[in-house]
Amino acid sequence: MFLPTTREEMDKIGWNELDVILVSGDTYIDTSYNGSTVIGKFLVKNGYRVGIIAQPDTNSPEDITRLGEPKLFWAVSAGAVDSMVANYTATKKKRKNDDFTPGGINDRRPDRACIVYTNLIKKYFKDGPPIVLGGIEASLRRVVHYDFWSNKLRKSLLFDAKADILSYGMGEKSMLELARTFQSGEDWRGIRGICYISKEREETYLELPSYEDCVSDKFKFIEAFERFYANNDPVTANGLYQKQDTRYLVQNPPSKRLTQEEIDEIYNMDFERKVHPYYRVQGEVRALDTIKNSITTHRGCYGECNFCSIAVHQGRTVVERSEASIIAEAENIVQEKGFKGYISDLGGPTANMYGIECGKKLQKGACQDKRCLYPQPCPALRVNHKKQLKLLKSIKNIKGIKKVFIASGLRYDLILNDNACGNVYLEELVKDHISGQMKIAPEHTEDRVLSYMGKPGKSVLKDFKDSFYELNKKFDKKQFLTYYLIAAHPGCTELEMKKLKDFASSELRINPEQVQIFTPTPSTYSTLMYYTEVDPFTGRKIFVEKDINKKYKQKEVVTGNFKNIKKYGNKK
Ligand code: SF4
Repeated sequence: MFLPTTREEMDKIGWNELDVILVSGDTYIDTSYNGSTVIGKFLVKNGYRVGIIAQPDTNSPEDITRLGEPKLFWAVSAGAVDSMVANYTATKKKRKNDDFTPGGINDRRPDRACIVYTNLIKKYFKDGPPIVLGGIEASLRRVVHYDFWSNKLRKSLLFDAKADILSYGMGEKSMLELARTFQSGEDWRGIRGICYISKEREETYLELPSYEDCVSDKFKFIEAFERFYANNDPVTANGLYQKQDTRYLVQNPPSKRLTQEEIDEIYNMDFERKVHPYYRVQGEVRALDTIKNSITTHRGCYGECNFCSIAVHQGRTVVERSEASIIAEAENIVQEKGFKGYISDLGGPTANMYGIECGKKLQKGACQDKRCLYPQPCPALRVNHKKQLKLLKSIKNIKGIKKVFIASGLRYDLILNDNACGNVYLEELVKDHISGQMKIAPEHTEDRVLSYMGKPGKSVLKDFKDSFYELNKKFDKKQFLTYYLIAAHPGCTELEMKKLKDFASSELRINPEQVQIFTPTPSTYSTLMYYTEVDPFTGRKIFVEKDINKKYKQKEVVTGNFKNIKKYGNKK
């Protein structure tokens, strides 16, 4: 069942009012890949009446008022991506295309969507029910953060948007608890996974340096980020508070980790896997091509690449679905009209973390003093791809499935670290689960830059490349590796990009094309380095390229395409 998007649809299912109205910056695709959809359907499953308004027109009351006022709360999200990341490139040019908008033109999601949607609601529903922010934009902007697009530190989005509550992380549990407490009239302030504004400090919580202190002293901002990052594990995290004007942002500890039964319950919900007809008539939604026949096997990632925000949003612990739940979803896909036998992706944030997790972390929380994969995989992980091999086999054997691809990113250091069946796993991928090319993301080849990124060194990349091509030879396959690389990451100079180019030509025997300029997205370690120009792990000053022309140059010395150089002045 689709969530209703109009009064007529509400009437058809006999709902005269709604408990919760979701407002989203993405169009409404009824899929587990859309966070608003998941929250909405999860609330419906638990007895609440939920409707959705996707990409409302912000210049008229028409869209935002069409479902009336919710009884319990509004739930606002910018969509699957932060609205500034969705709307602008790494060099601050407006993006023309949007895969989450019908018709593909990027003209529906406003900049700083959570703020704009909150204002829109307040304009037409004065003194209405509370507004709860959620999704990646809210989650990563929940405390004081660096905003690349305005080149300054900003307060929590909750202060900027003037909303009531912010739900962070994967919000099923906190949103359900909010609905329950709003309905019963109980105090909601103790719910895990939420932030709110308070006049009082929360004495039992840890204090983060205030907004004013962070603005006036970069080392205070580093201290604030490190404490914030360290208090993100559902087993060990403390609550936090941070003064942001005369008041405090209070962050309760994160939601408890989902059990396997709970994550199965979420992914077993009856998703339509289609764009809602109200939005479908507005044009083709390109994102659907990628997600329609894809399956999520797990959430969370312990890779902790410094430029990635998954650890802060989904967490460092892998929570996996049961094989039975994944198989059931694959069997449902087979029944879909027009299914041609191909599962486009069986993965998660990192595909090959399924079935590999640390027992100590599950019991006592993630280590604070070391990382699970950097500088090399921790022995406590006991890396073994056996479970994934079994899963791949089971899905492949379903009648009607011709091929299962793994398109999500893979950690090749994990594959090489698996003495028991890493080679068999790679053989299996090469033989049967990639379509001509395997995409990997070494991001760089120079060890100094890789250390700033928190990625494995180039010798691991070279070993993996050799194994991959040996297996292709063995199976008489003509497949190749595609390398995703980053230019202008903090600590990276033009000289290192030249060395990358040399390594790519001499050792990898490629002319790299997939090179992205680093984007300082909110709440990552790399963004902290970008803003402060300090390596937070050593306290030493580092070089950071901030000139747009020189950022292009870093990229273009690798790609050999110099079209953007000279186009820009010394812009920052
Ligand atoms: S023991 Fe190792 S794998 Fe486990 S949480 Fe700590 S660093 Fe990660």
